[in-house]
Amino acid sequence: MTDNAELVTAFTELYGTAPEGVWAAPGRVNLIGEYTDFNDGFVMPLALPHTARAAVGRRTDGELRLHSTDVPGGVVQLRVDELAPHQGHGWAAYPAGVVWALREAGHRITGADIQLTSTVPTGAGLSSSAALEVVTALALNDLFGLGLSAAELAVLAQRAENAFVGVPCGVMDQMASACCVEGHALHLDTRDLTQRQVPFDLAAHGLQLLVVDTRVKHALGDGAYAERRAGCEAGARALGMGTLRDLPYEGLDAALDTLAESGADESVVRYVRHVVSDNARVEQVIALLDAGEVRAAGPVLTAGHVSLRDDLRVSCPELDLVVSTANASGALGARMTGGGFGGSVIVLVDEADADAVTKSVLEAFTSHGYATPGVFPAVPSAGARRIG
Ligand code: ADP
Ligand code: MG
Repeated sequence: MTDNAELVTAFTELYGTAPEGVWAAPGRVNLIGEYTDFNDGFVMPLALPHTARAAVGRRTDGELRLHSTDVPGGVVQLRVDELAPHQGHGWAAYPAGVVWALREAGHRITGADIQLTSTVPTGAGLSSSAALEVVTALALNDLFGLGLSAAELAVLAQRAENAFVGVPCGVMDQMASACCVEGHALHLDTRDLTQRQVPFDLAAHGLQLLVVDTRVKHALGDGAYAERRAGCEAGARALGMGTLRDLPYEGLDAALDTLAESGADESVVRYVRHVVSDNARVEQVIALLDAGEVRAAGPVLTAGHVSLRDDLRVSCPELDLVVSTANASGALGARMTGGGFGGSVIVLVDEADADAVTKSVLEAFTSHGYATPGVFPAVPSAGARRIG
């Protein structure tokens, strides 16, 4: 469903009255800085043109009614004062968790009717879940006059996903969906949520950033995330630091020696090397974008992928195949984006080469017997907003 009028009609047919407004919140890709956000590090996401949209109306009777055009099944009906973490609720836990987090933070949400629809591919590493949370948070913020900032809404949305749904994600996805600006990438310091909008005008440089959605999701992912997170925490502890953010790139080699001597697990050494070097790569990419040298960011993206593949070990054959094929057929650089073990790759490419690179990737997938990936350009788009 792409049309707002359709969404309003669906709401009205479902709930018997017109909605009070319509809101949108985008999915995202992360340009650089992966698995850094739970280490207080840097990330650099940009919003996609793909959005979750919500038509919403307030209720005063404590009822929360949720419906998505994208999942089978009817309206999910809950009571706001009975919401509690880990109750299940399937997909509805994402918007319900936002209501719970807002109420936990002391905001008076007396009920709502919500009709959702989304063009963000789900489970593709493009943050369809954050889009759903942030669109819900923004709509309720506006309707109930809560006066929360975009960053405050993002933090509450993250709390919903962590504590209510039970997914231990960092804050990047929600911040990207809430705070991104068209034509920019968001340089975010996840330690204090300081942000800077970095101009990222691909078209002006004759470039495209392709998203290749491999459409695979290996089951390994969930446990691996927790294991990487614990490994990074162990590394920071062994180095006597609060988080790996405290380790500057210049001190990395010495720190790796210290870790090895202290008998740290070999995997911890690799994880530390990834996180610290990826933080440095964020700063490198920002310097290049600020200098107008966007093309030169390509090899930095590829170096990021190699680090995710060999040091953090969160890639998979499908992601590696996209990166190697794209780079061998004229791309400027490529890396997996998001949590890995499937999901998507971003490919920086000259506009003139985009079709040839896409064709090579599709052919490589066919010859490996993999499912056909989805390919589309990531146009840096606006963050969450009211649209009706
Ligand atoms: P990602 O955020 O990378 O897309 P997640 O596993 O974090 O992947 O979130 C995907 C989940 O979010 C889906 O399984 C579903 O529960 C929920 N979701 C996303 N989009 C929608 C939608 N349009 N309608 C209902 N639920 C959705
Ligand atoms: Mg998600």
